[in-house]
Amino acid sequence: MSVSKTTPPWVRESGLCREARLAALGVPHGFTLKSLGDMKVPANMEEALSRAGLARKTPLLLKQKHGMIIHRAAPGQKRLEGDGWVSDVSGLPVAVYSADCIPLLVWDRDLKAVGAFHAGWRGLAAGMVEAAVETFRALGLAPAALRAAAGPHARPCCYRVGPELEERFRPESFSRRPEGLFLDLGAEARARFVQAGLDPREVTACPDCTICSGDYFSWRREAQDHRILSFIVRP
Ligand SMILES: [Zn+2]
Repeated sequence: MSVSKTTPPWVRESGLCREARLAALGVPHGFTLKSLGDMKVPANMEEALSRAGLARKTPLLLKQKHGMIIHRAAPGQKRLEGDGWVSDVSGLPVAVYSADCIPLLVWDRDLKAVGAFHAGWRGLAAGMVEAAVETFRALGLAPAALRAAAGPHARPCCYRVGPELEERFRPESFSRRPEGLFLDLGAEARARFVQAGLDPREVTACPDCTICSGDYFSWRREAQDHRILSFIVRP
């Protein structure tokens, strides 16, 4: 087992990046490192889940569209089009794929439900964070009871964007350098969760950059269709 230098509350072990609050609660979850391989390969996915204590489990997956559709998980569900899951079913893992986009895991303090969501800049701009919070509210779970973690994604050290994105996000989510304009997806997601009513102390964003860390698959760096899996299950 290798444990890395990732900043708390994030830890890396057994091929997974994990969030300390979820780990402390005993909620099986993870964001896969490159060392476990491309998560489109079913055997790799099974291995990743087994590393989190979910041996022989298959997560519910989506045909992701960079959209706003969120499904409520149910056993045996087919692969639906959408970019998010909310689940109040115990023992049924839900997952999203990413490779530079931002994976979001959300849960409530009593673990009545969990969710996994995928958003790139398009999804964030369109309101994926707010939509995720609404799906929990529809289950009777108020924003103040929610916790959120934004997993490894393209960080502002590398995530250069065009000026046309400037009007879509808050100014604080950008940094401007001589090479251009850089977007902080994690800061933007965090600000949106807080705006939607979450306690700022209960929203974390992973500091790992998928583009430059070398420990994750990156679409921008590799231009290959290899994926990170982000998964969570209601205990
Ligand atoms: Zn970077």
